[in-house]
Amino acid sequence: MDLNKIILSDEARKELVNDRRWLHAHPEEGWCVFETTWFIVRRLRSLGLEVLAGIDVIEPDAVMGRNEALVLAAQQRAIEHGVPKEFLESLSGYTGAMAILRTGRPGPVTALRFDIDALPIEETDDPQHEANAGHFRSQNPGFSHACGHDGHAAIGLALCRWLSENREQLKGTVKILFQPAEEGVRGAAAMAAKGIVDDVDWFAGGHIGCSAKLGDVGVSHFGYLATTKFDLEFFGQSAAAGSPEKGRSALMCAAAACLSLGSLPGHSQGITRVQIGKFISGTGRNIIADHAYMQLEVRGETTEINDYMAKNVEQTVKGLALAYGVDYKLTRMGEAVTYKGDEEAVALLKSAAREVPGVHSVVDMNAKIGSEDCTMLIRRVQEHGGKAAFCYYGCNHHGHHRPDFSIQDETSLPIGWGTFARFIAEINSQD
Ligand SMILES: [Zn+2]
Repeated sequence: MDLNKIILSDEARKELVNDRRWLHAHPEEGWCVFETTWFIVRRLRSLGLEVLAGIDVIEPDAVMGRNEALVLAAQQRAIEHGVPKEFLESLSGYTGAMAILRTGRPGPVTALRFDIDALPIEETDDPQHEANAGHFRSQNPGFSHACGHDGHAAIGLALCRWLSENREQLKGTVKILFQPAEEGVRGAAAMAAKGIVDDVDWFAGGHIGCSAKLGDVGVSHFGYLATTKFDLEFFGQSAAAGSPEKGRSALMCAAAACLSLGSLPGHSQGITRVQIGKFISGTGRNIIADHAYMQLEVRGETTEINDYMAKNVEQTVKGLALAYGVDYKLTRMGEAVTYKGDEEAVALLKSAAREVPGVHSVVDMNAKIGSEDCTMLIRRVQEHGGKAAFCYYGCNHHGHHRPDFSIQDETSLPIGWGTFARFIAEINSQD
């Protein structure tokens, strides 16, 4: 297949942009992406691809940061919005999907991953904002696609159409993953644990924006901090302030935890981070607090350094609970490892990107301080002997996770699509 002949038809480009805008108008968070999953699955079925969804792509034992009450509310909302009950039942409460093209001809297995979740951020009402000017703003109050995963999902769908239309020119197998719950690095571990990428020879993931400007493609050799997200609860005994010996203060234990965790020693071999972002406790001035709730995270420059930090959190919390005579529950809510690309896969992504119309420059781009759970899938692929790489396709934005995040979908998405379509063609075309 001639890489120069891989073009997005006008019709396909229109569908790509329309899909992104529909998804943008219907943002869902984390593990609650039921309408989104239905939108994706319905399309994949119409394209004649093999489709797995929900429980068939998610390993429940490896799920992190899933809130059952939010999931139930999202299912209800999906039903009200016309998602068939039988479909929701078939998911067994889990979201996400995977399309599989089996050409029937021997050849490598290639997989690409697209995350599909939104954020709990109210979209700006500035009339100049892309989604307001274009009349596709979020219809789900309090939520928006402020990180561009709507664009990611739309590219995945456009690739599925291309795969379906070009199957006779391809060999081997191609898998397109639509992953829930990237925000909070919660979803990829459960997809990896399901084993759906264990047979994968070549793997690629990507993100719109970040440091890449419109027309740039940044390809990563290494990067990302490994991270573990925790929820921490302390359970004490309430009592009147006048009788402190009768109570056990969860609040005081949590306050001590803030100071102790915040001053954990670092590591000589690389960067570490500790962040306590949320602390709720207490009911009134003269009542010893019987409950405290905290959200915290650690990061490390290597997976080993992050593990060292996470272990320190566990030991510190255990020790403090003993000292204050309270019970505790420490729950892992999300996890990602560092990224190390395979040079062969990196080179393939680079050569793919260079051929895409509209690309001005292809540069090395290694994210040093963020975290991304695609790394969990990448590690799984590499552990099984496959090769993987990660890239960024640019857009002009004011910053991710903001109410005015914009991506210039008509120009930016075809570049992402073109890069990944060519990556697949380099590996799976018959000639
Ligand atoms: Zn993102």
